[in-house]
Amino acid sequence: MNTERSRNLFQKAQTLIPGGVNSPVRACKSVACDPLFVARADGAKIYDVDGNVFIDFLASWGPMILGHNHPTVVAAIQEALAHGTSYGAPCPAEVELAELVCEALPSVERVRFVSSGTEATMSAVRLARGYTGRKMVVKFDGCYHGHADSFLVKAGSGIITLGIPGSPGVPDDIVKNTLSIPYNDVVTLEKTLRDASLDIACVIVEPVAGNMGVVPPAPGFLETLRALTAELGIVLIFDEVITGFRLAYGGAQSYFGIMPDLTCLGKIIGGGLPVGAYGGKAEIMAKIAPEGPVYQAGTLSGNPLAMAAGAATLKALAEPGFYDRLNAKAAAYADRLAEIAAKHLPGATTLNRVGSMMTTFFTAGPVTDFTSAMTADTGRYAAFYREMLAQGVYLAPSQFEAAFISAAQREEDLATALEKTEWSFKKLPK
Ligand SMILES: *Cc1c(COP(=O)(O)O)cnc(C)c1O
Repeated sequence: MNTERSRNLFQKAQTLIPGGVNSPVRACKSVACDPLFVARADGAKIYDVDGNVFIDFLASWGPMILGHNHPTVVAAIQEALAHGTSYGAPCPAEVELAELVCEALPSVERVRFVSSGTEATMSAVRLARGYTGRKMVVKFDGCYHGHADSFLVKAGSGIITLGIPGSPGVPDDIVKNTLSIPYNDVVTLEKTLRDASLDIACVIVEPVAGNMGVVPPAPGFLETLRALTAELGIVLIFDEVITGFRLAYGGAQSYFGIMPDLTCLGKIIGGGLPVGAYGGKAEIMAKIAPEGPVYQAGTLSGNPLAMAAGAATLKALAEPGFYDRLNAKAAAYADRLAEIAAKHLPGATTLNRVGSMMTTFFTAGPVTDFTSAMTADTGRYAAFYREMLAQGVYLAPSQFEAAFISAAQREEDLATALEKTEWSFKKLPK
């Protein structure tokens, strides 16, 4: 594979942008290769600047559920573009997207748009603190909620241990108000939440974890979480930045039938443009300025192009049977993938899948939390990743991420990807 143009661009980028990238994992360090620079994407395919073509399973980390350049999304953006790109004043598209979101998500009565998932989660936590008058945030090891200070608590810490900064630049004073406990562990969860001395404002959770690789909630985990938070007056925040409009039109909350108090959205609701959102019960959302005292604002929030892309995407997703088809296609693909993995590396891989998101962990498993995810052989994943890339399949450049199935992937794309997978497994050192 010729990657000369990418190499040259990366060299130049490194003199201008830290690490040559605007988001760290794009640098592909954990898979020990240099990033490819993308020239364009269309449908299920992504094309680099050297003319190499790949079947895309990254989906821009989740948003591109319809595939790239979906005609109705492109048309909506073009129409909006003709009317100017930003007003700093309310526009009809905000009302349209808000209505679509509130109708789709059973627990969301009011929604506020922001420009990224990070903005959504940090604002939701501020709101939960403002609403309850409490300060502590409980999260789960291995869950990612964007890069705001409160969430950068080193994962994998022990039971009810106060957090330690996961990044220089995050003051201890902030991190001591975040507690990270193991995912899927209801005993630790109950003990933590019942400790009144902790002054817990909220629990934030990925209802299906997607940022330590895909880890489904164990039976009863979300139910227990909902029951305990309701009993104790703790705000339950579902971070549905990945799962919203991914697992079902109504997100993980309708997929599992569990209603959080607040929901964070991002990725898919922007249709590939920068949008985030947080929403929930009207009574809680009423605390947000200007209705209430909790401040949150944004110059480009509710941007007309982004709102148009989001609304067009949601309308395409609302088509009857969309999620049944997508999830069935993903299930069939995952079954074949697991078979191939088991044939070539018997007892050494675990495939986790929920709906159209999945991860093949290079470990015997089961993978149920951060600790078990960390048993994966990342060196082996890196070798697999590089072979798949060379074969024209574009995966996430990390073992601890999801592969996404999109509506644009046709049976022949998936069959080709499976052939390449088999080939790549054969070439792996045993
Ligand atoms: C991607 C992601 C975020 C952060 O969203 P950005 O738009 O990257 O800021 C937050 N939570 C979850 C679960 C995510 O996957």
